[in-house]
Amino acid sequence: MNIHEYQAKILFDQFSVPSPRGMVADTSEEAAAAAVELGGDRVVVKSQIHAGGRGKGTFKNGFQGGVHLVASGEVAGIADRMIGEILVTKQTGEEGRLVRKVMVGEAVDISHEYYLAILMDRSACCPVIVASTEGGMDIEEVAEKDPGKILREHVHPLVGLQPYEVRKLTTGLGFTGDEAKQFGKLLGNLFRLFLECDCSMVEINPLVRTTDGRVLALDAKFNFDDNALYRHPEIVEFRDTEEEDPREVEASRHSLNYIGLDGNIACLVNGAGLAMATMDLIKHHGGEPANFLDVGGGASQEQVAAAFKIILSDEAVKAILVNIFGGIMDCDVIAHGVVAACEEVGLPIPLVIRLEGNNVAAGKATLVASGLNIITADNLADAAEKAVAVITD
Ligand code: GDP
Ligand code: MG
Repeated sequence: MNIHEYQAKILFDQFSVPSPRGMVADTSEEAAAAAVELGGDRVVVKSQIHAGGRGKGTFKNGFQGGVHLVASGEVAGIADRMIGEILVTKQTGEEGRLVRKVMVGEAVDISHEYYLAILMDRSACCPVIVASTEGGMDIEEVAEKDPGKILREHVHPLVGLQPYEVRKLTTGLGFTGDEAKQFGKLLGNLFRLFLECDCSMVEINPLVRTTDGRVLALDAKFNFDDNALYRHPEIVEFRDTEEEDPREVEASRHSLNYIGLDGNIACLVNGAGLAMATMDLIKHHGGEPANFLDVGGGASQEQVAAAFKIILSDEAVKAILVNIFGGIMDCDVIAHGVVAACEEVGLPIPLVIRLEGNNVAAGKATLVASGLNIITADNLADAAEKAVAVITD
């Protein structure tokens, strides 16, 4: 799960990670009022979307930049050109994202921009802190062209962040004196936030040194481990389903492991490994999967029906491939779920089914009895080939 920058600031405040004050606004009037409340001559107006690269983004209305440093009196005009408009950045894809809110923040005078992130390094099985003196909007380029400028410090998950590790990064980034102290404190607090909130990633780009000697987090991108969200109801409150793929929002309502993709062959599979193998085989035969979907071993008929309806609601989908190898999963439950969904919403596109395993005879009988127009397959490769063939023929 991701959150917006203005929400991230609430977590920063809770964990004493210094960042400039910011207020969220839904309208240009609210944005102007926020600028008055913040005071000062200048403020920064930032589009709130779940994607980075806003500074260098372009609105579909032609307006350049999703982040603007402006005089307080200009806030309403700037907010007006952002709210309700679609912002395209390197991270949004061509379709861009609708900006529904802006954050009006205290403007700071930057003397240097750094990069600081904490994320899970799966291969090392522990958190890693990534930092660079070359922060700001071109960090991806730095990583590509000058990888030596990126510092990495792995942290033992049980021992926690050690003072020597903080010192290594402080020195590596060139902080001295009082700024070194501020950075050390900020990093310690950020690490605590990362662990206590079960983040999978926290990225601050830029972390800045200001001209008046403060070290502040100027941007924030968070990612939380969905499997740990049950212990953070206050973070779940931050969820903005309007920023998420509607197919995935619906799937999560039914506790389905679903990830939307760009292709046109939908998959309904039990088991994550089998789901991935199915997607591989679709690609191998020249097709493109429309989704990843693992209904798991204990799915109910209702969940299967819900999954099937999500697939059918996707206009890009031109064929469906159901691939079940029922070890625990009862094939007849799958069959009943598929039939129930088709009875409700119809089956306007070809459906290829491969069923194998637990209670398979009953499952096949259910499908035959339904009278649905189904293409059956004998094995996984055969199923993938038939699904691709049915849309290319
Ligand atoms: P991103 O492009 O989505 O990563 O958005 P950021 O929050 O990182 O903002 C983009 C850039 O705007 C930053 O790298 C800064 O250079 C600049 N910026 C953001 N806030 C301020 C501010 O308060 N003062 C100044 N001078 N620049 C800012
Ligand atoms: Mg940034």
